[in-house]
Amino acid sequence: MSRAIIAFGANLGDREATIASAIRALADADGVELVRVSPVYESVAIKDTGVDHEAPGYLNGVVAVDTTLEPHALLDLLLRIEADHGRVRTEHWGDRTLDLDLLDVDGLVVDDERLTLPHPRAWQRAFVLAPWLDVDPDASITGRGSVRDLLAAATDEVTRR
Ligand code: AMP
Repeated sequence: MSRAIIAFGANLGDREATIASAIRALADADGVELVRVSPVYESVAIKDTGVDHEAPGYLNGVVAVDTTLEPHALLDLLLRIEADHGRVRTEHWGDRTLDLDLLDVDGLVVDDERLTLPHPRAWQRAFVLAPWLDVDPDASITGRGSVRDLLAAATDEVTRR
C-alpha cells in the first residue's frame, strides 16, 4: 500500500461540480482509498508567458489516497478521469475543465517518458503547497524540503475559498 498525493485544478465550466465528480471517481476506483480532501483554494491561471489575469481563475486542492496501484497505473487512472470530465488538450498550458497531477508517492523518485515524481513544479506553487500542507502538516518533497518552508517561499497568490 502506498500513500499518494494528487492535485486537482479546474478553470472552465462548473468547476465545483467537476471537482466533486472527479474526487468521487477516484474514491470509487479499484485499489484506491480516499484518505483526506483539502479545502479548496482559488488561484490565477499561469501560462507559459506567466500569470494570466485574463484567463478564468482556477479552483485547486489536493487529495491524499492510499493505493495498491503502482504509480504508472495511478497516473493512467488520473488521465482516464480527466478524459471522462471533458478535458480537451489543446495547448500544454491551456485552460482545462480538469487537471489531475500526481504530486508524490511515498517520496519515490521516478523520471521516465510518462511520469516524473515528485511532480517537477509542485515545489514552487502555492496553489499546490497550501492544500498539501492542509492534508499533511509534516509533508516534504524529496530533494526540495518541507512543504511548510516551500510554501513560505512561494510567490504565487492563492486564497482559501
Ligand atoms: P499536463 O496535464 O499538461 O500537466 O501534462 C500531462 C502529462 O504529463 C501526462 O500525459 C503525463 O504522462 C505527464 N506527467 C509526467 N509526470 C506527471 C505527474 N507527476 N503527474 C501528472 N502527469 C505527469
